[in-house]
Amino acid sequence: ITFDQFLTHWAKERPDRVAMREEDRVMSYAELEERTARVASALLAAGLERGDRIAWIGKNSDLYFTLFFGAARAGIVMAPIGWRLSPVEWAFIVNDTRAKIVFTGPGFDAAEDQLAGKLDHDPQIIGADAARAMIDGARRVAFDPSGPADAVLQLYTSGTTGNPKGAVLTNTNLFALRRNSADLDLPYTRWEDDEAVLVAMPCAHIGGTGLGIMALAAGLPGIILAEFNPDGVFDAVEHHGVTRFFIVPAALQMLLLHPRCASVDYSRLKYILYGAAPIPLDLLRQCIKMFGAQFIQAYGMTETTGTICMLPPEDHDPEGNRRMRSAGKPLPGVEIRILGPDGEEVPTGEVGEVVTRSSNNMQGYWNLPDATARTMTAGGWIHTGDAGYMDEDGYLYIHDRMKDMIISGGENVYPAEVESAIYGHPAVQEVAVIGIPDPKWGETVKAVVVPKAGMTVEPDDIIAWARERIAAFKAPRSVDVIEALPRNASGKILRKDLRAPYWEGYERMVN
Ligand code: ATP
Ligand code: MG
Repeated sequence: ITFDQFLTHWAKERPDRVAMREEDRVMSYAELEERTARVASALLAAGLERGDRIAWIGKNSDLYFTLFFGAARAGIVMAPIGWRLSPVEWAFIVNDTRAKIVFTGPGFDAAEDQLAGKLDHDPQIIGADAARAMIDGARRVAFDPSGPADAVLQLYTSGTTGNPKGAVLTNTNLFALRRNSADLDLPYTRWEDDEAVLVAMPCAHIGGTGLGIMALAAGLPGIILAEFNPDGVFDAVEHHGVTRFFIVPAALQMLLLHPRCASVDYSRLKYILYGAAPIPLDLLRQCIKMFGAQFIQAYGMTETTGTICMLPPEDHDPEGNRRMRSAGKPLPGVEIRILGPDGEEVPTGEVGEVVTRSSNNMQGYWNLPDATARTMTAGGWIHTGDAGYMDEDGYLYIHDRMKDMIISGGENVYPAEVESAIYGHPAVQEVAVIGIPDPKWGETVKAVVVPKAGMTVEPDDIIAWARERIAAFKAPRSVDVIEALPRNASGKILRKDLRAPYWEGYERMVN
C-alpha cells in the first residue's frame, strides 16, 4: 500500500470526514487529497524528481503533513528535522540529506538566517506562508505515484549514542505496522470508525510522524499538537474526541504532575501508548491509577519504523504482575532473536543483544554504508544495540542499551533497573545511572539524582534505599545531585554526557 492509494481511497470513501485538525483549522479527506496532489505537482514542476530529498524544520503542523504526504505520493523523500536542535545540528542534518528544498514551519522564518553560512549546498528555503501560497496556487497535474518499495521518509535517529543517522523508510515500511496490527485483530489494534488520534510527539520522530500516518491509514482524524504540552493533551481528550495517543515516559510524568490531571474527563480516551525509553514501574503504576484508559507499551526504534513489540492492556495489572516490566510480544510478522557475544542465539531467559527482522526494517541508513552494514546483517537482521531477554511465553524484556551497560567486578548492571529502584524514593524527581571508572571494580555504579522541588537528597539515604531493593552490586556507590538531567530533543536521557567528565583520560570498554 502507498500514500497515494490511501489518500485517493479515503477521499472517495470519506470525503467530508476530518483528516487533520490543528487548533481551529480543520481539513477534510477530500481537501487533504487535493492539497497533497498539488504539493506533488508543485514539487515536480519545480524540477524535483523521485528520490530527491526535501526537509522540514518546524513544529508539528498540518502544513508539515500536507507537504510530507504530497511529496510521498510522488516518491520525493521528506526528512523532518527536530526543531529543538541547534542551528548547527539542523545544518548537519540538512547537509546530510542534500535536500533540494528546506521548508520552515510557522514561527521558524529566522531559520533561514540561522542556517546561513553553515550549509555545504544551496537548497531553496521556503517559509510557511510561502509554502501555503505554493499549495494554494499550484495547478494539479497527473503524476506517476510512488510504489511500495520507494523511499518516502528519512527519519533521523535520536542521537542518544552518537550522531543522528538517517533511516530511509519506504511506503511498505510505513504501512507495515497497520498491516501487522490488522492481522492481530484485537480490540487495541483495531481502530474503530469513531476514533481520533492525537499527534503529540515531535514529527521528527516516528512517535510523532508515525501517529499521523496511522491516522491517515485508518481514515481517522489526526489531531495535531504543535508541541507536547499537558493542556494541549487534556483539551484534545476533552474537546476533540481523541481516543488514543502515544507519548514517552517523561511526558507521562509531566501529565501526572499537572494540576489539571485529576479533573480531566477521560471518558472518550481508550488507549494510551507509551514507549521509546524504559518506563519506571512506579510511574507506570501511578498512570494506571490516574487515567481511565488502557495502556499499551511500544518497543521499537527509528530503524524499525517504530513499534515491533507491544505489551497489551491485559498485561498492565498494577498489582505486582511481573509482565509489567516487559516490552511486550513481537507483532505478527516480526521476528526477534537474542544473540550472545559470539553471534549465536542464547537460550530462553538469557540476556543478549536484541536483533529483529520484519517488513518494518528500514531500507538502510542514508549515505552511511558502513553503519548500515554493521546494523543490518546477513539475512536482513537489524541489530538494535539493546540488551534484553525473551521469556518462555515469548515476552521480550529490555534491560537497556548495551552501550550503557555497566560492568562492575565482572557483573553486568543495567542502569534502567537501578533507576527504577531509586525512582520510588519520595525525594527523587528524576534519576539517571551511569558507570564511572574504578581501579578495583573496572566500573562502579553512580546515580545522578534530581530532587523533587523543595526537597533535599542525602546520598547515603539513596544508597541505602537502593540496597533494600536490588542486589548490593547493582546499588550505587556514589550519588551526584543536580538540577536537571541532560536530555535530547526526544526526551531521552543523555547518559553519555553525564559520563563524559568522569571518563576523561580513560578508555571505556563498550560491549
Ligand atoms: P541513536 O540511535 O541515534 O543513538 P536512539 O537509539 O535513542 O538514538 P531512537 O530510534 O529514537 O534513537 O530510539 C530507539 C531506542 O529507544 C531503542 O533502541 C531502545 O534503546 C529505546 N526504546 C524504545 N522503546 C523502548 C521501550 N519500550 N523500553 C525501553 N527502551 C526503549
Ligand atoms: Mg538507536
